[in-house]
Amino acid sequence: MTTTQSSTCPYCGVGCGVEATLDGRQMTVRGDGAHPANQGRLCSKGTALGNTFGLEGRLLSPRRRTPQGFAETTWEAALTEVAGRFRDIIAEHGPDAVAFYVSGQLLTEDYYAVNKLAKGYIGTANIDTNSRLCMSSAVAAHKLAFGADLVPGVYDDLSEADLLVFSGHNAAWTHPVLYRRIEARPDQFRVCIDPRRTDTAKAANLHLMIRPQTDVRLWNGLCAHLIARDALDHDFVDQHTHGFSRLMAALSTDDQSLEAVAADCGISSVDLKTFYDAFLQTDKVVSLFSMGSNQSSQGVHKGLSLINAHLLSGKIGKSGAAPFSITGQPNAMGGREVGGLANMLAAHMDFDDASKALVQRYWGSPTLAPKPGLKAVDMFEAVRTGKIKAIWIMATNPMVSMPDANRIHEALSKCELVVVSDVMARTDTMDMAHIQLPAAAWGEKDGTVTNSERVISRQRNLTRLPGDVRADWAIIAEVARRMNPDWAQAFDWAGPHEVFAEHAGLTAFENNGQRFLDLGGLVGMTRAQYNALMPVRWPFPADGLPATRLFADGCFNTPNGRARLVPPVVRGPAQQPTPDFPFSFNSCRVRDHWHTMTRTALAPELNRHITEPTLDIHPKDARRLGIRDGRLVVVTTVQGEAIYKARVTDDVRVGNLHAPMHWTQQFAPYGRSNGLINPAVDPLSGQPEFKHTPAQVRAF
Ligand code: SF4
Repeated sequence: MTTTQSSTCPYCGVGCGVEATLDGRQMTVRGDGAHPANQGRLCSKGTALGNTFGLEGRLLSPRRRTPQGFAETTWEAALTEVAGRFRDIIAEHGPDAVAFYVSGQLLTEDYYAVNKLAKGYIGTANIDTNSRLCMSSAVAAHKLAFGADLVPGVYDDLSEADLLVFSGHNAAWTHPVLYRRIEARPDQFRVCIDPRRTDTAKAANLHLMIRPQTDVRLWNGLCAHLIARDALDHDFVDQHTHGFSRLMAALSTDDQSLEAVAADCGISSVDLKTFYDAFLQTDKVVSLFSMGSNQSSQGVHKGLSLINAHLLSGKIGKSGAAPFSITGQPNAMGGREVGGLANMLAAHMDFDDASKALVQRYWGSPTLAPKPGLKAVDMFEAVRTGKIKAIWIMATNPMVSMPDANRIHEALSKCELVVVSDVMARTDTMDMAHIQLPAAAWGEKDGTVTNSERVISRQRNLTRLPGDVRADWAIIAEVARRMNPDWAQAFDWAGPHEVFAEHAGLTAFENNGQRFLDLGGLVGMTRAQYNALMPVRWPFPADGLPATRLFADGCFNTPNGRARLVPPVVRGPAQQPTPDFPFSFNSCRVRDHWHTMTRTALAPELNRHITEPTLDIHPKDARRLGIRDGRLVVVTTVQGEAIYKARVTDDVRVGNLHAPMHWTQQFAPYGRSNGLINPAVDPLSGQPEFKHTPAQVRAF
């Protein structure tokens, strides 16, 4: 039998629509010409989806750890054990003794269910997501500047802009379909700000190859330049922003001359002036920022400094003008919307008393987490020290993806109860579980995701669930019902459409236009309407149409309706290089692999692009250390050691090392990059500094 469905690609935050056809177990995938995100285009990963679909390596039934290894068990036994042990640990040690670590791979419905269980019924906010590692600094910057986690840009802005700035964003590799949108505009001026000469940098008109972690200095310099050249949008600043004097005063404490800024950033003052003048002279400017900006101990201030330049010049809320955070994962945005981050409650609400009371009223729940929970790095540290005694990890592989990954091994080894729900039977994290729960994969899942431009799309199932596999939201609901029979009604959903309807209802509940995230227009959808749902952008209030552009009226989500100009502080990295560790090690990614390769490694064509983990090192450093191109090298940091094949190239700066993050324990110590990473985090967002760890390197 042949089945064809419209669905959404499960990889990056572009959120491309696909048309997938399943013939037996053979799947073919092509781009969905009707989807607004990609208009029929797909990148190599999306095109290869059919080759990663199937049962190879799948976990198809629940299993529990025994002295002899993992043994299959029944759902009844597994669910009863998970619920019982969570209940017992909470009874003895309190709700904060348990935690959930979830993922931007989950659907919004899954995220909603687990957030409701943790925050509304167990009473802990110890639920965080791997999106913490990817875009939490952008979230914090949005909240500070705009009053809520609101992304001003839409994809059409990219083709409408006359100047595009890629700030720590190698879009050509990380968001290929988005990048291809600009091919129709060869007249656009493009600037890439990146310490590495990426494919995006190579194709740009101007590459500012800055010293790592000097982004705030560069963007603050632009703000000072706008002020000095009287290139502000005075009306916009006067009527729609707040804090100009404080920002002026803060900027004046540094020497903002072109020469001083250029020297601190390690670039030429001529290039810097070219960028600043282009920004001044162009009305339609989009500045994209992503992992290279966010994964830093000063990621929030990087985002704020970029946003400030747009606010000062009024380049926001208009066609082709926006600061634009691009998310890594397919549903990082959906997770943010339902409260998947430990410091957010639900529907973009915080842990203030009014929001807590509102959410508890809506849920009718017995309790509510009183305060924000532990963010990812702190959460695993609390597992390591025994404060958290049970953790349930869903759809993510922290043993490979977290910074200082060796410490995650120590944490999970000591933990009383590790539950892992995932698609694959063997991952580094799955191997640490006491109980393994088989979750639905892409092509089997049914629900929604939100992409980087606030468009909600359906992921649809093409096949019945194989083996004993279940949907994540359904597993969570079953555990909730077993934890306490009184909670049964609150988790009694007949399908994902009912979970989504409940989420939509919460966004609209007692809203009265105060919160921009409003899905009132989607409340009350029937199963048939949900099944037929076409991509839709929020806000979508009950009494209006979906909004295209936020802030078009100059109104922000702050109490006084004005955007805040928050003074960003210029700081160095959390840890400067030392004589023993003189290099800056930066973990990055390759074009054709996704996260820890559990899916993309299944497709031969994706393995061909880059076949092994390489370390980029500058020729001057290589010569000095006797390192030859193609030979093995050892990188050492305080946190660990990894082996790579050297790629000697002037695509990186002297003193910098770059290596991809995808390779896992199965290859250890070959290319396991995140075992090297210093777990320093941004104090505001909790996002780790993946882009700079002091390191040494030597020939193997
Ligand atoms: Fe999938 Fe992203 Fe590629 Fe689109 S750009 S096909 S969402 S990986």
